[in-house]
Amino acid sequence: MKSSLEDTLISAIRNIPDYPKPGIMFRDITTLLGNARAYRRAIDELVHPYAGSKIDKIAGIEARGFILGGAMAHQLSSGFIPIRKKGKLPHETVRVAYSLEYGLDEMEMHKDAVVPGEKVILVDDLIATGGTAEGAVKLLRQMGADIVAACFVIDLPELGGRAKLEALDVPVRTLVAFE
Ligand code: AMP
Repeated sequence: MKSSLEDTLISAIRNIPDYPKPGIMFRDITTLLGNARAYRRAIDELVHPYAGSKIDKIAGIEARGFILGGAMAHQLSSGFIPIRKKGKLPHETVRVAYSLEYGLDEMEMHKDAVVPGEKVILVDDLIATGGTAEGAVKLLRQMGADIVAACFVIDLPELGGRAKLEALDVPVRTLVAFE
């Protein structure tokens, strides 16, 4: 049986078939973000285990990870690190290639965004194959971050992303799953 939190979140997420291409069911969180109660409950639940512990920074993956991560950083009194698609950050960066469903892309982080040893939580809206989050983990670890957890509102368990991150010793937290 689903909890009331899961019900609230699942009913606030919009499902768009065949977007951005045929066969993909796009899980659109803009409706969740536009629903004050669902947005607050999602953020409260994401930060809940870390209340009272010192989290130095939240690292959000462009773009929806920024919206969740900014709110989490505020609630935990942490800093925020943007992990962006290549070419968007103005200062010196570290860059990593990561796998998408078809082909590769690259993401970047500012070199001075993390002080070695800082405790960081990674966040994005959804984990599917885990390729995007794996790239972000590599960037953060390259700069010496201690990754406390990777958090996502949505898990697509059939695509294996959670296992991919757990194999890297990254604890994974997700709030709802779609089979
Ligand atoms: P992956 O690298 O395969 O784990 O894909 C995760 C990234 O792609 C996240 O940034 C998601 O926002 C996006 N994504 C992948 N699949 C979906 C989906 N079905 N609905 C919405 N976003 C998705």
